[in-house]
Amino acid sequence: MVTIREAREALKLYFGYEQFRPMQEQIIEGVLDGKDVVVLMPTGGGKSVCYQVPAVVLPGLCVVISPLIALMKDQVEALLANGIPAAYINSSQTAEQQYLIENECLEGKLKLLYVSPEKLLSSGFMSFLKRIKVSLFAVDEAHCISAWGHDFRPEYTQLKALKQQFQTVPVIALTATADKLTQKDIQEQLYLHNPQVYVASFDRPNINLMVKPGRDRFNKITEFLDRHHKQPGIIYCLSRKGVESLAAKLKGKGYSVTFYHAGMSAGQRAKAQEDFLRDNVQIVCATIAFGMGIDKSNVRWVIHYNLPKNIEGYYQEIGRAGRDGAKADALLFYSFADVMNMRNMLQENQSRETQTELQLVKLERMQQFAEASACRRRILLQYFGETMQKDCGNCDICRNPPTRFDGTLLAQKALSAIARTQEQVNLGLLVDVLRGARTNQVIQAGFDKVKTYGAGRDINPLDWHRYLHQLLNEGYMEMAYDQGYTLKLTEHSKQVLFEGRKVQLVKFEDARQEEPTIKARPKRELIKDALFDRLRQLRKSIADEAGVPPYVVFTDTTLQEMAAERPTTKISMLAISGVGAQKFDRYGDLFINEVIDFVNEEQAKGNKMKGATHLATFELLKQGYSVEQISIQRSLNPVTVYSHLATLSEQGYDVDLYRYVTKGEFKEISKAIAKLGVDAKLKDVFEHLNEQFEYHKIRLSIALYKKEYSWQL
Ligand code: ADP
Ligand code: ZN
Repeated sequence: MVTIREAREALKLYFGYEQFRPMQEQIIEGVLDGKDVVVLMPTGGGKSVCYQVPAVVLPGLCVVISPLIALMKDQVEALLANGIPAAYINSSQTAEQQYLIENECLEGKLKLLYVSPEKLLSSGFMSFLKRIKVSLFAVDEAHCISAWGHDFRPEYTQLKALKQQFQTVPVIALTATADKLTQKDIQEQLYLHNPQVYVASFDRPNINLMVKPGRDRFNKITEFLDRHHKQPGIIYCLSRKGVESLAAKLKGKGYSVTFYHAGMSAGQRAKAQEDFLRDNVQIVCATIAFGMGIDKSNVRWVIHYNLPKNIEGYYQEIGRAGRDGAKADALLFYSFADVMNMRNMLQENQSRETQTELQLVKLERMQQFAEASACRRRILLQYFGETMQKDCGNCDICRNPPTRFDGTLLAQKALSAIARTQEQVNLGLLVDVLRGARTNQVIQAGFDKVKTYGAGRDINPLDWHRYLHQLLNEGYMEMAYDQGYTLKLTEHSKQVLFEGRKVQLVKFEDARQEEPTIKARPKRELIKDALFDRLRQLRKSIADEAGVPPYVVFTDTTLQEMAAERPTTKISMLAISGVGAQKFDRYGDLFINEVIDFVNEEQAKGNKMKGATHLATFELLKQGYSVEQISIQRSLNPVTVYSHLATLSEQGYDVDLYRYVTKGEFKEISKAIAKLGVDAKLKDVFEHLNEQFEYHKIRLSIALYKKEYSWQL
């Protein structure tokens, strides 16, 4: 029986992670126990580990069924980079290539094999699998089995054959779709035996949620991009034309940008996608056609240029940011005009689509999210049936809670104007009336004669729009979508007009502090950023040479930790999350050297770096300088240089301390260390030895002692 302990060891060795995330551990225990398991986890939740780790520790081959051929290649490359033998078989390969891989399976050389459902179900493949020991079937994107879902694939319904033909092999089915119907379908259609079902929280706490008014989008985007220097991200636009024109404008401003939409040829699309995956371009402007089957973990931000149709779509799209768990930003632009456009589109489609009513309701929920004045994450999760206990602290509302004011008078003006115009005005016209505008429409209708004409001159049109939306949202008035969007009074409005009901409105934030900008970052942070940048460049060149996307080499989270910790030894490098044994062997020294070079350069510039000065000593030592020469060159006391040597030795650097302290001396000194302990003060050891040995010899002996007796310390 394989234990969870072995699984944990594999996690560290191959993936470089210290521990499982809470649900991963339970899931893997179930799988190791031979149970069937269903996993519902958001994108970035860590689903792959749930079958990849069992695949490594269980005897035999894990067969992964995955619908997206493009993704298989990336996944296999990521596994190989971690030292896990894996391959894929699908129709993109020649018969010869497929044959070679089948042979590797028969010889027991592989731990994971990715196949498309078509391949799995093709003639002869099942009987081929019977000839090898299959440890586990993993059905990825399992929601494809459900006709209710958004991604139904008929061939997935044939997967019931797995349980029929391999009754004793456990099946793990995974998806990022949360709804109950899909979950039930998965269990039933795969014929799973009494499966354990795990539903993770769909919260993505690392994604910062922001909504901004849609005015002046382009400038707001360029400001945003300047704050996200070189960070990869996606801008979603509504239309193909919108995509192309935004991309062209950004290009004109010198940004690194490409675009993607379904109207392009397959070749053009593949190129755009590849460029983005490999960090050759920073930005993709795209329609929602972009993103399915993209595994890029270091997308740092997603912008919605237009309001999405519904919250499901929005959440899926922003979910493409920050899959590596590092900080990411989601920025949505919102304007009422977008809502109107979308409504019109939906209604034009009415003849073709049966669900228009439902879609309009969903759009309304989306609009409420955009106009929210309470924690946005709460609203999102509530939508998916999850309740948060407290506000998230990582959305614009939490950071900048809106202040309210008594808006009764303002509301009365607006509502009275609606009443006096016989509820025949739409939003734009109402604002004109309130502002006392002399437009044709106003004059022709005689609205310049009503009592409230011009009663709201003191408020600018934009703010009027915003206040009116609030009144709409809170039910103080309604919009008759079927009557030219005219505004109508409600029960609430009558209370305000005639019964003294008070109205609280949210103040707008224009004067408020914007999102944190690059202003005055502490120097420590700047240095970290600079190192991160260097490490990212190194990663890119390694990735290009190997022909893989950069995040396959190391994720952003891993590089960020390196930039913060500045590991310069094998031990400290292996302690970085995401650095496993295989990756250390391949890339460890390259990254260590980059860190050392960086530290040395910073020191040469006069930037003190705590804990790294010994590295400069090490550099000189390697170049053949003696301790005396180093102490002169670096204007340091020789004792300090000796202490650098001791530190270097303790950190695993190759320095021969016996050049500075003889074996005999060490033997004597170590008796005192054994008595007083390795953490004793130098002075105490010095006195204990009757002041016979110089301080630096004691310091060096402690380092030697730690090394030689490490097994008993
Ligand atoms: P999903 O398939 O659910 O979208 P992934 O399996 O791609 O998610 O995992 C998302 C990210 O989290 C990856 O960068 C992965 O390496 C990382 N990850 C997964 N499990 C752990 C863990 N136990 N500790 C740290 N990072 C993890
Ligand atoms: Zn919040």
